[in-house]
Amino acid sequence: MKLILMGPPGAGKGTQAEKLIDLYQIPHISTGDMFRKAQKEGTALGLQAKSYMDQGQLVPDEVTIGIVRERLSEDDCKNGFLLDGFPRTVQQADALDGILTDLGMSLDAVVDIQVNKDFLVERLTGRRVCKACGATYHVSFNAPKVENVCDKCGGELYQRNDDKIETVSNRLDVYAAQTAPLIEYYQSKGMIKSIDGSKSVEEVLADIQAALGSK
Ligand SMILES: [Zn+2]
Repeated sequence: MKLILMGPPGAGKGTQAEKLIDLYQIPHISTGDMFRKAQKEGTALGLQAKSYMDQGQLVPDEVTIGIVRERLSEDDCKNGFLLDGFPRTVQQADALDGILTDLGMSLDAVVDIQVNKDFLVERLTGRRVCKACGATYHVSFNAPKVENVCDKCGGELYQRNDDKIETVSNRLDVYAAQTAPLIEYYQSKGMIKSIDGSKSVEEVLADIQAALGSK
């Protein structure tokens, strides 16, 4: 099974990725992991990527694409893979097409986990963290016994800046704007499987499996 997994922050993409790699016995290929692996192995491209990141710069497309090519050429990808965080742009998607053609592979589907913005905002802004021990809670889904007090240590709970509504809302808008052309690109190829991510973890997984059929 050769998949791309997409979804906005808070849609549960990480959880589904873990379930899917287990289910289909395929490697999880995220951009971050790929960069770390290439650097650890000291490949030329890995070292190039590192030098950009060390300077706080974006890794250029040609380096990223080269690393993807190296990774997908490895033996464990023969039976499939789950790409997560790549491609991010139509140019990268085009490059991926070329890589897969060269390797004699083709994508089975692009799974797009969709959740409406209000729901994501509720999920993401409800998080609270203990100042003392770092334990995390959620005001709706995992509330402490006493409001704003840590169950474990009695410490005070607070909302991180990243979880404030303006930041969350902005992050979701940026995601939507960045991925819209990519989704259109794969829609035009008939590859998108849209999944309702507001259901439970098990239901979402079952819907993904059903959408992928017997591939
Ligand atoms: Zn605590």
